[in-house]
Amino acid sequence: MSSGEILPIYEHFFTWQGEGTHQGRSAYFIRTFGCPVHCPWCDSAGTWHKDYIPSDIEKLSISELLSVAESHNPDFVVVTGGEPTIHNLNPLTQICYDKSLPVHLETSGAFEIKGKFDWITLSPKQWKKPLKENIALANEIKIIVDSETAIQDWIDSYPEILKTESVWLNPEWSKRNDPKILDIITETVKQNGAPFRAGYQLHKLYHADQKDANSRPNVPLGGNINRGL
Ligand code: SF4
Repeated sequence: MSSGEILPIYEHFFTWQGEGTHQGRSAYFIRTFGCPVHCPWCDSAGTWHKDYIPSDIEKLSISELLSVAESHNPDFVVVTGGEPTIHNLNPLTQICYDKSLPVHLETSGAFEIKGKFDWITLSPKQWKKPLKENIALANEIKIIVDSETAIQDWIDSYPEILKTESVWLNPEWSKRNDPKILDIITETVKQNGAPFRAGYQLHKLYHADQKDANSRPNVPLGGNINRGL
């Protein structure tokens, strides 16, 4: 745990938000280093997997980092990971508030959230289940549909997610062309309507993140269960 004024950062770059309610809006992404959740299909495995961690992870001043973010005049900052909530994010969100820079959080919801965010996207993961109090804080839920039963499994385990305004159903990226996965999303939306919404990682089709030289290549584990440690 750090004081939050200096944080280990995997990458930071200017792009647009590719998913969810704010899809298509300009955003400065700050991806923190470290994640204890270990999903076997993680697409940011460089933030935690021993085989993919780069040798040049830096601890950066959050104040300086947010000055860089502000210089791009993004619609908002996205704090993602890794799992950002393993860090104290209070200083980061306070600086954003002082700068009138909206700040969004992307989290698995498995840990206490330290910081005040304008928007919280909670994407629950079965390898470390979300805290109920975090589900209540979430503005949107994002279910990664990695099996034909994933949607129903999450509803059965956490029926309260249906109280959220939007429950996005995103195909797990290695299964984005799997008709069974796409069809279960389509049928769920058609049969239930709101809060369900069909989702996609649109930025990956555009290669939008890679247009900023500060971004790192995606490191997808691709669903191989043996690669979640
Ligand atoms: S996808 Fe899973 S393992 Fe990867 S950063 Fe997110 S919570 Fe961690």
